[in-house]
Order: sequence, then structure tokens, then C-alpha cells
Amino acid sequence: MKTVKCPCCNKAVSWEHNPFRPFCSEFCKNHDLGKWANEEYRLPVEEQDGGNESATEDSTKTKKKLD
Ligand SMILES: [Zn+2]
Repeated sequence: MKTVKCPCCNKAVSWEHNPFRPFCSEFCKNHDLGKWANEEYRLPVEEQDGGNESATEDSTKTKKKLD
């Protein structure tokens, strides 16, 4: 039986007949997707904070308050 390690919790999980592959469960799948979505959202905001400070100062401050 072919198995893979769940990228979220490193548990060995069957590749075949696994609707959540490469994850072990729906929980890990949703957790990992949420983690990546969160990181992708945060990184550009931090770059703007240091790079285009003068151009986006107002919008950056607004985002920080909301966050
Ligand atoms: Zn898992």
C-alpha cells in the first residue's frame, strides 16, 4: 500500500482511496490551506510597510488597525 506523510501533521496516510490526500484528514487539509492563505495575505502587507512607505502610508495604517 502506498503511503505519504501528511504535510500538516507528518502522519503516514494512504495515498489511494484518500479524498484528502496528501493530507490525512479534512481537518489537516483545511488547516494547511488556511495557514498558507494567511501567510500569503500577510507577506505583501509587510513588504509594503517598508518599501512604499510614502505612497501607501494611509492605506497601510488602516490595514494595521483592522488587523
Ligand atoms: Zn494530518
